[in-house]
Amino acid sequence: MVKKKAHSHYKDVPECVDKIGTKKKRPRLMAVVDEDSCTGCQVCIPFCPVDCIETVPYEKYDIPIPPVQIRFDECIGCQICARVCTKLTWDAIRMIPTDEFEQTYGIKISDKGPQ
Ligand code: SF4
Ligand code: SF4
Repeated sequence: MVKKKAHSHYKDVPECVDKIGTKKKRPRLMAVVDEDSCTGCQVCIPFCPVDCIETVPYEKYDIPIPPVQIRFDECIGCQICARVCTKLTWDAIRMIPTDEFEQTYGIKISDKGPQ
């Protein structure tokens, strides 16, 4: 009989980051939070390697736990937040091709972070 490891039922999730980086080129994908689905649990925040996920300003919804949002000019499109949200919480982050993101939201994504 094959014995299972004690914690083999745990879901596979990325490691939290040790060192915060910055964007160096235009990403292929952009992360977009569905604010209606996001619970505001903030689980995704410490996993972002460029620390670009933040709480939506409290004034926007006037609720005790607001959702999070992404600073798009800093996002490197690594998909880690989407994987973490899907595996640990609520599946509230979509990865969208950057061209489609620019057309949809009218935001130009540069190849550098904030200047
Ligand atoms: S992990 Fe998902 S539900 Fe939780 S704050 Fe991040 S986007 Fe929202
Ligand atoms: S895709 Fe990567 S860089 Fe962009 S918000 Fe998610 S974790 Fe951060």
